[in-house]
Amino acid sequence: MIIKKAEIIITAVKPSQYPPEDSPEIALAGRSNVGKSSLINALINRKKLARTSGQPGKTQTLNFYNINDDFRFVDLPGYGYAKVSRKEREKWGDMINRYLTERRSLKEVILLLDIRHSPGEHDKMMYDWIKSIGFKGIIVATKADKLSNNQRSKQVSVICKELGIKDRSLVIPFSATKKLNKDKVWNIIKKVLNT
Ligand code: GDP
Repeated sequence: MIIKKAEIIITAVKPSQYPPEDSPEIALAGRSNVGKSSLINALINRKKLARTSGQPGKTQTLNFYNINDDFRFVDLPGYGYAKVSRKEREKWGDMINRYLTERRSLKEVILLLDIRHSPGEHDKMMYDWIKSIGFKGIIVATKADKLSNNQRSKQVSVICKELGIKDRSLVIPFSATKKLNKDKVWNIIKKVLNT
């Protein structure tokens, strides 16, 4: 994918701030610190258009990125902060639920998982949610540079088993630091976008 343009459109805290539904959207979900910002930056060849956090607890926002005026990446708020109150968690749930179920321009949700760990309870819930709404459920298994080839393959099997995925090609080991499988992720996105 040749990136001619990549810009943040808005960091939205409520639906009234979302941009009009006039461009296809690919959403990225995952627990905080899994590597969502790093994935976006790696895909679009930027060092820090998307903010890499390292500091959990930031405000829960939906970040919309315009790519080439063709489509958008939508960075969903991360989950799994230990210190979040029930009220905040409910707010998070409402926000994501509304976006996932009501957004007509949403074409696919990519779920990010840290390749080193088995999917946690929240990851499983998120995956089931994505599938039940009718998305394919593409998994990007991040930080693959931290494992050997052998270990990667083993972890892909664990992820498939835990989430009940039959088609291994839906789980893509990825490294933002090593740019591993960037093309694979782009190809899957292009397929979703029909381009
Ligand atoms: P986010 O909270 O999901 O947006 O996660 P970030 O993209 O901010 O990444 C969280 C931390 O993981 C940062 O310290 C990143 O440098 C690190 N990280 C992200 N992707 C990779 C990767 O592919 N390999 C390695 N080794 N570290 C990564």
